Amino acid sequence: MYYLPLNNPGNLNGRPMKIEENRGLDFIRETVARDVRNGKHGGRVHTRFPPEPNGYLHIGHAKAICTDFGIAEEFGGLCNLRFDDTNPVTEDEEYVESIKRDIRWLGFDWEDRLYFASDYFEQMYLYAEQLITKGLAYVCDLTPEEVRRYRGTLTRAGIESPYRNRSVEENLDLFRRMRTGEFPDGSRTLRAKIDMSSPNMNMRDPAIYRILHRRHHRTGDAWCIYPMYDFAHCLEDSIEGITHSFCTLEFEDHRPLYDWFLDKLEIFHPQQIEFARLNLTYTVMSKRKLAMLVEKRIVSGWDDPRMPTLSGLRRRGVTPEAIRNFIDRIGLAKRDSTVDMALLEHCIREDLNRRCTRLMGVLEPLKVTIVDYPGDRTEEMEFVNNPEDESAGIRMVPFSGELFIEREDFQENPHRKFKRLAPDREVRLRYGYFIRCVEVIKDDDGNVIELLCTHDPDTRGGNAPDGRKVGGTIHWVSARHAVNATVRLYDTLFSVANPLARDDFLETVNPHSLKVLRGCKLEPASTGFETGGTVQFERKGYFCKDPDSTPDNSVWNRTVTLRDTWKRILRNEK
Ligand code: ATP
Ligand code: MG
Repeated sequence: MYYLPLNNPGNLNGRPMKIEENRGLDFIRETVARDVRNGKHGGRVHTRFPPEPNGYLHIGHAKAICTDFGIAEEFGGLCNLRFDDTNPVTEDEEYVESIKRDIRWLGFDWEDRLYFASDYFEQMYLYAEQLITKGLAYVCDLTPEEVRRYRGTLTRAGIESPYRNRSVEENLDLFRRMRTGEFPDGSRTLRAKIDMSSPNMNMRDPAIYRILHRRHHRTGDAWCIYPMYDFAHCLEDSIEGITHSFCTLEFEDHRPLYDWFLDKLEIFHPQQIEFARLNLTYTVMSKRKLAMLVEKRIVSGWDDPRMPTLSGLRRRGVTPEAIRNFIDRIGLAKRDSTVDMALLEHCIREDLNRRCTRLMGVLEPLKVTIVDYPGDRTEEMEFVNNPEDESAGIRMVPFSGELFIEREDFQENPHRKFKRLAPDREVRLRYGYFIRCVEVIKDDDGNVIELLCTHDPDTRGGNAPDGRKVGGTIHWVSARHAVNATVRLYDTLFSVANPLARDDFLETVNPHSLKVLRGCKLEPASTGFETGGTVQFERKGYFCKDPDSTPDNSVWNRTVTLRDTWKRILRNEK
């Protein structure tokens, strides 16, 4: 446990520290706390979130965002949003906009600190020339295939390029001509001159510039050489005065290179700290793989509610609070692991349980006519909007002699444990009456199409004055007042916990991940919800109103069911 000064003395931004004093700190927060205490960088904390605009953000990125923005906020520091747009081939403006939208939605703010790596191309180029001048970089004419062969393997040292000992003048001349577009793609690279026998493959004279005659979405045709990620990233951090540069574990082996560039250039030196990336069961997380699902039309788009993207989760009805709570709970560690999807769903339920209005919605309707209830009569039944939140109040729900109930709440030949409606059996209509099924009406094929029931007028509100009990309580919607809806039920996008364990992950796509129910019947209060609004349909789960809704047919996506498998996992562990 570290003692944290209440007022961060070196905080140049004058923002208060928000970190809770007695919170157990993870290894990253411990490091930052120590640096602040020791006055490193004047006690300043400045982080950045550096997405590459080549796809939509996913929940893995949410972990990085909560770490980058969250830690800056807790330590009274700043966090930049920086687009790492050094690869003109895969990047696009559409992604830039979606990324901004998603970060704001999660509840973070980069204020006026929006940067693009491409804004530093000139500066990076000058740094590359400096390396050449210091004799630490050279233009190499090996073909990509030759570079691979010369590189060696984990057990065999590499071989030095025959171009490695070109003079500074020749290197400068060739590099400048690379820039002016004299040479075709792939014909030359600029490489750092480090160590071809280093046990760390990243240190074997890595390429730092490549020739690519491609238009960039921001710099247009200004450049035909582009910096490689490892060279660019540390420079971006340094230029922006980043103090702590958090990234995922796969960059651990790149850290010596990160440090090498900054040391050799003798410029401001941020500290790179790696943490384990978030993996979730039953899904994939890489933008490239998610892009394949979109391109192959396996999903309807990046915001398909089955996608682990932030836009998909949002469309599904997941709130930013649920995501942030989930990220908080899984914590930061230095070892890779896979988190159970059930934990994410648990966090979503916990959040929606607190905030959602309970409504009645019949997803697979079966008509019920109450034969002893006056045909033209309507009553208003009183419902509690949210038992978890008294301030949500009550509402009146219309009741009449023609209702819809859930088809699965009736069994003609009930099995032993079935407690709901059956011939000559009584059930409670939620906040309504006890009803008894007196006749089953079928079509010519023998399918049940309607039930005739009687009701007990003394049970209004759901209780019998004589204290008699019924086996079950079911939900219902008055047929005359019902609103039509389409409901989408989701299952996991993949049918195996680890799709990437297969040669072709696409073969494990779950063919039953989407089930569409049309002709659902909702109570009239459902029309009061805007697109994006989330409710609980009692006994059926949490649902979010989709933008595909029309004035006479609303569309609802099931966010999660009410069944909490995570709670069961926890119980069994006890
Ligand atoms: P992907 O493999 O999905 O394309 P990426 O790492 O290439 O991800 P970037 O846009 O480069 O995506 O990532 C921006 C930041 O988000 C980086 O710091 C990266 O380490 C982090 N990040 C990406 N995926 C995850 C994840 N699954 N868990 C935690 N952080 C992640
Ligand atoms: Mg990337």
